[in-house]
Amino acid sequence: MIKYKLICTDCEVTFDSWFSTSKEYEKLKKKKFLNCYICNSLNVEKALMSPSVFMPKNYSKTDSQIQKYKRTNEIILKYQKFIKKNFNYVGENFVYEARSIHYKNKKSPKGIYGTATKEDLKELKEEGIETELIPWVKDNTN
Ligand SMILES: [Zn+2]
Repeated sequence: MIKYKLICTDCEVTFDSWFSTSKEYEKLKKKKFLNCYICNSLNVEKALMSPSVFMPKNYSKTDSQIQKYKRTNEIILKYQKFIKKNFNYVGENFVYEARSIHYKNKKSPKGIYGTATKEDLKELKEEGIETELIPWVKDNTN
C-alpha cells in the first residue's frame, strides 16, 4: 500500500489516500475515479512532497521565531560592521565604481559596497564582475 497526499486543485483541500500500487493511482485517475471528497471535482492531483517540520508540543512558535529573527539580525549586524570597516561605501555609484575597478585595474585596497538594482547586478555579472548580494538591516547602534 502506498499513501499519497492528494490535492484538489478546485477547492485546494488536501487529503490522504491509499493505493495498492502507484499504478493503481494512475489507473483510477485515468478512469476519473479520483474525486475530491469535498467538492467532487475530478481535478485531483498528487500533492508535491514538501519538507516537513516537526514541532514539539510545548513549542511556542512566536518565541522561537523572534529568537531566530534576533539571531539572524545579530549575524547580519556583525557582517555589516565587518563590511563597513573593510569596504568603502560608494552608495549609488556602486556599478560605476565596480566597473572602474574591474576595467581600469584601479588600485583599490578595499572592496566596495553600495546599492544597485537587480538589472545592474545582472549586467555586471555578464561582464564578468562578480558581486554579492548581502542582507542588510537598519543599524540603530550608530
Ligand atoms: Zn475539491
